[in-house]
Amino acid sequence: MNVYGLIVLAALLLEFALRVTADVLNLRALDPALPAEFQGIYDADRYARSQDYTRVRTRFGLLRATFDLALLIAFWFAGGFGWLDHRVRGLGLGPIASGLCFVAVLALARALVALPFGSWSTFVIEERFGFNRTTPRTFFTDLLKGLALTALLGGPLLAGILWLFERSGGHAWLWCWLVSTLVSIAVQFIAPTWIMPLFNRFTPLAAGGLREAILAYARSVDFPLQDIFLIDGSRRSTKANAFFTGFGRHKRVALFDTLVERLGTVELLAVLAHEVGHFKRRHVLKGMLLGLVEMGGLFFLLSIFLGHQGLYDAFFVTRPSVYTGLVLFALLLTPLGLLLSVLGAALSRRYERQADAFAVVTTVSGGPLATALKRLSVDSLSNLTPHPFYVALHYSHPPVCDRIHALEGASP
Ligand SMILES: [Zn+2]
Repeated sequence: MNVYGLIVLAALLLEFALRVTADVLNLRALDPALPAEFQGIYDADRYARSQDYTRVRTRFGLLRATFDLALLIAFWFAGGFGWLDHRVRGLGLGPIASGLCFVAVLALARALVALPFGSWSTFVIEERFGFNRTTPRTFFTDLLKGLALTALLGGPLLAGILWLFERSGGHAWLWCWLVSTLVSIAVQFIAPTWIMPLFNRFTPLAAGGLREAILAYARSVDFPLQDIFLIDGSRRSTKANAFFTGFGRHKRVALFDTLVERLGTVELLAVLAHEVGHFKRRHVLKGMLLGLVEMGGLFFLLSIFLGHQGLYDAFFVTRPSVYTGLVLFALLLTPLGLLLSVLGAALSRRYERQADAFAVVTTVSGGPLATALKRLSVDSLSNLTPHPFYVALHYSHPPVCDRIHALEGASP
């Protein structure tokens, strides 16, 4: 065990310890008394049920995290990475095809291990609490489509990255950065028209009051909204959502049918105003730019560590190669990844507060968004009293009571 191995092992254990601590604190923070914001909206039975949902999901998440960690450490110390590399080399393929094989086997194994957990979560837990609408058929076709997409989009990109690192010496990381940037922009362009329709049906929202109200709001804030779609989210879950896609003057919004069922026009407009706020405050653009900067930094670090024999030794891989280096480097990133995810979540919570504030200003009152949040929280049995440490570690949105408090406080 060298310094690389120690860093990765320590980071994995630290990450696990933080997670367990956050979970325990979060469970202890479950308070049987209903928060004042939800008086009259939640009945006692359903509130108790929401806490039960949090408990069940937390225990299940812990079980899964423990299993994943134990499996990774067992695979590592049984010499799994070196063994797999040896087997792949035995096929006598070139460095790029070998790399694709090596990564594909690991990715497939991961998907296979995740399968029982994913199906338990959907068909047992979500089912028990009345959220699940996914049929086994949808579940498995989703899985296959996801794997096919990963192979189709990720395979060529990975081959390109391996090729660049094999061929273009010291500047390889810059080329990889450029290529990955172009690919990620291209994917965002084709996602709304080519990828998302593989999973959901998009139907244009019929003419009528809701459509007119949305278009009028978009005009009032000078937002170039081109299309409004309804999406059949109810095929998988009763949980509701809405999102925007598109670039420049070609923005479109997709509303889950479950959202339209549950909210009135005024509340729906408030939810959309929040989403428009993310564009107007340039959160989408900033998020993309940050992602690109992060990617460049990672490729640069990768180019440095690829040549360090110690990284391969730590994982019992005898013959260094670009593709094993790539996988081991991803593990070496565990401590940095943990830090970046906590910082990223904090930034995201800040953006959410700004988007809420935008909705208040442009729809005159925070009331409708507060009502929408309350209704959606009750429907999805959200945890109303998360522990601050858990929030810092995992929450991309501020706790719902904080948001409601800010929204109602901001109302005239
Ligand atoms: Zn948001």
